[in-house]
Amino acid sequence: MRYEGKIYRPPGEWRSFLLQATVGCTHNKCTFCGMYKDKHFHVRPMKDILEDIEMAKEYYNGEVDKVFICDGDAIVMRQSQLLEILDALYKTFPRLRQVTVYAGPKSTKTKSLEQLQELRQAGLTRAYLGVETGWDELLTKVNKGATSKDILEAGLLLRDAGIDLWVMVILGLAGPGEPSRKHIEETIKLINEMKPNHFSALTLIPEPSTSLYQDVKKGTFKLLNAKESLIETRMLVEGLTVSPLHFTSNHASNYLPLNGTLPDEREKFLKMLDDSLRGEGYIRSEYSRGL
Ligand code: SF4
Repeated sequence: MRYEGKIYRPPGEWRSFLLQATVGCTHNKCTFCGMYKDKHFHVRPMKDILEDIEMAKEYYNGEVDKVFICDGDAIVMRQSQLLEILDALYKTFPRLRQVTVYAGPKSTKTKSLEQLQELRQAGLTRAYLGVETGWDELLTKVNKGATSKDILEAGLLLRDAGIDLWVMVILGLAGPGEPSRKHIEETIKLINEMKPNHFSALTLIPEPSTSLYQDVKKGTFKLLNAKESLIETRMLVEGLTVSPLHFTSNHASNYLPLNGTLPDEREKFLKMLDDSLRGEGYIRSEYSRGL
């Protein structure tokens, strides 16, 4: 398999075959994201993608059961190309049971519900949607290139198509104080309406290549401390009413790793958070946090 530039994948895809179908992200302008700053978005030639599938067949001896199609926004590819890739993957790997993809909100909305259903039937099982926040003012500020309405519509389309929907939000994206509260309140409203299957809260750690990092350096943006971040997590655990919801905040960036199902584990999570907030529970040290 051949890869162009650094490859990113969701944490849960650590044992998937990573098939690079696109390079970079169609948007690539979010102030907090440095993942694809060195890449210009393009779709790889189909010939190369199909050759990589053949290479993976040799490399893994045909024993692939999960595939993540990268880079940033592969859902944007033409319908015929995605169908051809899915067909080749399932024909090549008899044990394949899951094919997943990152899905940008605007790119998802270039597809109709019928097209997304067609992709689901062809074996696209899960999409990861970067929500970041449900607060429009903040979405504009971080240059997400999509409104909360766009994000909600994209999430509902994916969910209605039967695609397993995994959303990600970013703790600390608004900074501390009143903006922090507003960020989480609006995010809770959006997620409760979207009703995804899985929810991940990551904690903002700006990469040096981002403009948000420069704001932190200049002192015009303040990162949350551990306590403020745990308070945001607590608000989410308390406010999310989707049932059942696979809730995670166990990314390396998070101060307190949580992974379980709401509402069943709500009380347990709240107790863990309250213990940590009182200084009687676990809090990951700054030293061991990372991206
Ligand atoms: S956060 Fe997502 S949409 Fe924004 S630049 Fe990064 S990959 Fe692209």
